[in-house]
Amino acid sequence: MIDPGDETERLLELVRSEGVTVQALLLTHGHVDHVMRAQEVKEALRVPLYAHRADLELIQAAPQQAAFFGLEPGPVPVVDGELKEGEDFRAGSLVFQVLHAPGHSPGGIVLVCGNSAFVGDTIFAGSVGRTDLPGGDARQLAQSIRSRIYRLADETVLYPGHGPATTVGEEKSSNPFVRALDF
Ligand SMILES: [Zn+2]
Ligand SMILES: [Zn+2]
Repeated sequence: MIDPGDETERLLELVRSEGVTVQALLLTHGHVDHVMRAQEVKEALRVPLYAHRADLELIQAAPQQAAFFGLEPGPVPVVDGELKEGEDFRAGSLVFQVLHAPGHSPGGIVLVCGNSAFVGDTIFAGSVGRTDLPGGDARQLAQSIRSRIYRLADETVLYPGHGPATTVGEEKSSNPFVRALDF
């Protein structure tokens, strides 16, 4: 399961109704809307939690982030292992390639699994992640998108943390924000 940020009960019900076995929780980055329910879900499912080390500080400050954004805080997520650039993460029959993609946050990652990529808030359909939060960097974000996401096959389906899915080809041809960041 990727980014259990909210609605613990709904997530657990989905696991039950789909009949899937969750092997691990993976975080694309440390922002509160992606991590705040990780500890609750982790304890309910008894699975380990993984994230990139460069966002550990953000993850530990999740309750403070929640207070800042007026969201309901939860227990501090305890990270059990690291997701590292270039390393594969295996969960059952699935293999996720980990690509470090900083810019929206220092420890942002893209998780590539077959023809799909879970991109967190790095890129959205027709937009990109904000870079005005602590540790954000617009130049780095543009570099991450070009060197990580735009190098994937055009037909790769991108699943962002917010909004609809898109493809690499679609964003390459029409995303105005990446072009605007091209400095
Ligand atoms: Zn974010
Ligand atoms: Zn987000």
